[in-house]
Amino acid sequence: MRVLAFLDGSLADPEAAHIRVDDLGLLRGDGVFETILVAAKQPREMRPHLDRLARSAAMLELPAPDLDGFERAARAVLGAWPGDGEIALKLVYTRGVDGDPDGTPTAFAIGLEIDEKVLRARVDGVSAVTLERGFGPELAERAPWLLLGAKSVSYAVNMAALREAARRGAQDVIFTATDGSVLEGPTSTVVLAKDRTLYTPPSTIGILPGTTQYALFRGAEKAGWTVKVEPLSVADLLRGEGVFLASSVRKVTRVHTLDGTVLPDSTALHGELAAAYEAEY
Ligand SMILES: *Cc1c(COP(=O)(O)O)cnc(C)c1O
Repeated sequence: MRVLAFLDGSLADPEAAHIRVDDLGLLRGDGVFETILVAAKQPREMRPHLDRLARSAAMLELPAPDLDGFERAARAVLGAWPGDGEIALKLVYTRGVDGDPDGTPTAFAIGLEIDEKVLRARVDGVSAVTLERGFGPELAERAPWLLLGAKSVSYAVNMAALREAARRGAQDVIFTATDGSVLEGPTSTVVLAKDRTLYTPPSTIGILPGTTQYALFRGAEKAGWTVKVEPLSVADLLRGEGVFLASSVRKVTRVHTLDGTVLPDSTALHGELAAAYEAEY
């Protein structure tokens, strides 16, 4: 099941061709996206996702996206989706056709079913490996052209990292910086729980600010947790009481094993954090 809509609110056949072969999103991975969780017909954290789409687009110097149009397209997808089960709603925005003098971006919203593997990981947790990302935590501020922290459609490296994890017998990845500090997952934010405090690294080190992490921290604070945004090392993760990967579609997924080391059982903590996150909705 998939439902496709354009920014004028029109629906289109998701199995027909709509994008030109000379679209720069396809030819160069030149574009940005968002993935939003929809539950019971309600998109979660819609505003933060739209704001981040605009921020990513600005980092790529794309024209400012028509956010009302994206909302219209999102509503069209939700309206046409049968039932009220969970949906992954993707917003995609590329530089458009190569050589187009008007520079009209390509933009659409598509609703997709949630992958069985993601649903299973929410319940069972995942085994993760740390993999080097090859830059230091100070690079993002020095080299904005690297687009660290933009949610761009150039995710070949992120997908390759997941295949490397699979080769090592794991399901997910935590990227590390050249100084050994923790960055993020290929599609998720890293969260550490220790002594009733949640930690996540600051986005200034070249990672994406996560809408799920933000909502989780908001909910956890209300539930009495302390929350801290500060650099983390892999040793910190191993010494904590729970490591989690947060993202819209996976929600807050437990990491039960890191680089082959079985982490302390965080099932109960996970239940608590999942409840705090759900209460934000
Ligand atoms: C999408 C993504 C996240 C998670 O963002 P959410 O807003 O929580 O879905 C984190 N890191 C990367 C690299 C991502 O692509």
